Amino acid sequence: MPNGICGAPEAAYFPVAISIAGRCEVRPAGYNPDITQRRIPALPMMVSVHAAVGAALGAVVRKPWQSFLSGIASHLLCDLVPHRDYDIEVEAPLAAAMFVYLIKRYGLNSPQVIGAFGAIAPDGENAAGVLGIIPIEKTVFPTHNEEKPWFVGHGAKAPSPIPQIILAVICLALADIHHAKGSGA
Ligand SMILES: [Zn+2]
Repeated sequence: MPNGICGAPEAAYFPVAISIAGRCEVRPAGYNPDITQRRIPALPMMVSVHAAVGAALGAVVRKPWQSFLSGIASHLLCDLVPHRDYDIEVEAPLAAAMFVYLIKRYGLNSPQVIGAFGAIAPDGENAAGVLGIIPIEKTVFPTHNEEKPWFVGHGAKAPSPIPQIILAVICLALADIHHAKGSGA
């Protein structure tokens, strides 16, 4: 895929020339032009897992704004734990399926769904970067851009997605238990 980006031969990729939002830009040596191999624009934790964590928090917190804000806070913690992420072609349908499930089960205005939206909100800038809407280096969330002074780190790469799938299932169960309590069922 990287062959001929910005008309540069492959041998000239150190420093690398890359097309971002239609502009030709030069990146430091070692920068991988393959979007799926770069750490900064890669979605640092599966979006669907973020959403499940946010749904559980929303179920506990109940109030809309607090649900949204605790979702955002959970994003930071989830990005820091070891995890496995996938490129946007895998992430997007999984995240969509998660939201269809949450909205059908709890309703669009439920604290579960609001918490889930809070939990994925920070990855909006990652998605915008991957899609070329904003330059990757403009991302600001403390776990997203390692070139920013406030960057706090990333979770290590995990070989298997199983732990985070288990985390998501536990969170969905928590969202449900609190849902049942909240509705008096
Ligand atoms: Zn993130």
